[in-house]
Amino acid sequence: VKYVLVTGGVLSGLGKGIIASSIGRIMKEMGLIVTAIKIDPYINIDAGTMSPFEHGEVYVLDDGGEVDLDLGNYERFMDITLERDNNLTTGKVYKSVIDKERKGEYLGKTVQVVPHICDEIQDWIERVAKRVPHNFDSEIDAKEVDVCVIELGGTVGDIESMPFIEAMRQFQFRAGRDNFCEIMVSLVPVVSVVGEQKTKPTQQCVSTIRALGLSPDVIVCRSENPLSDSTKLKLSNFCHVPPQNVIGLHNVSNIYTVPLLLSQQNVHGIILEKLRLADRVPRPLEG
Ligand code: ADP
Repeated sequence: VKYVLVTGGVLSGLGKGIIASSIGRIMKEMGLIVTAIKIDPYINIDAGTMSPFEHGEVYVLDDGGEVDLDLGNYERFMDITLERDNNLTTGKVYKSVIDKERKGEYLGKTVQVVPHICDEIQDWIERVAKRVPHNFDSEIDAKEVDVCVIELGGTVGDIESMPFIEAMRQFQFRAGRDNFCEIMVSLVPVVSVVGEQKTKPTQQCVSTIRALGLSPDVIVCRSENPLSDSTKLKLSNFCHVPPQNVIGLHNVSNIYTVPLLLSQQNVHGIILEKLRLADRVPRPLEG
């Protein structure tokens, strides 16, 4: 399994879920078998007890799992059916570790965030990523997942998401360098009507995540209007990615056009190259 990690900087609600779903969709269009995992750093076991006024739709999966609404996006974009374990929360991780501790499985060791919580996160991801989701396209009868898209909820730098970031930092080595691609979703604001597109928030969140040991391969910039070439160049200079890996994603009226906006900027090509998948794609992307 190859992994695409989607993280977000600056603020929440940037559309990480839509971007993760779109990347999955594009990969699937090329004939790859995809699945997705959503990480929510809150302590609730699942979204079932959370107010929809605060949290939005509680999405109910076929297996009865009450999960984050992003799993609904994944299912709709990728035409797959996911399971409750595809949504990992801090609550689930700690519950599992504490249950093991009570059973004495840690053999008297002091149970700690590093390594025990981080190991639990990595084991969970590895286990769930292998499960081939039910695909609605009848022609697909796959035994193995090619790509697992992992979306880390919240914003990089949050206290709550630290164990997950650390787990993913370690996971780069578990998965292998060629099997792991990191995508940062960020915001490029314009301060006034005539103002320029501001890159500082993106520079700062990229430097935060790099300090934590994860280096974005692709930066997706959410902005009101399309990203200018000079903004892309500046971000490339400051954020340690080539200019073509700075992807602009402006506001659109229909979110189902997001896969097109991304593929027009060759996001799939960049991911395939990073994951050394280019030669293994069953069919090239059309149109
Ligand atoms: P996050 O996962 O980062 O919290 P979501 O994926 O839930 O964000 O998206 C937040 C909201 O923004 C959703 O209502 C989504 O439909 C909307 N959205 C996402 N991307 C775009 C876009 N490119 N243009 C317009 N609206 C978008």
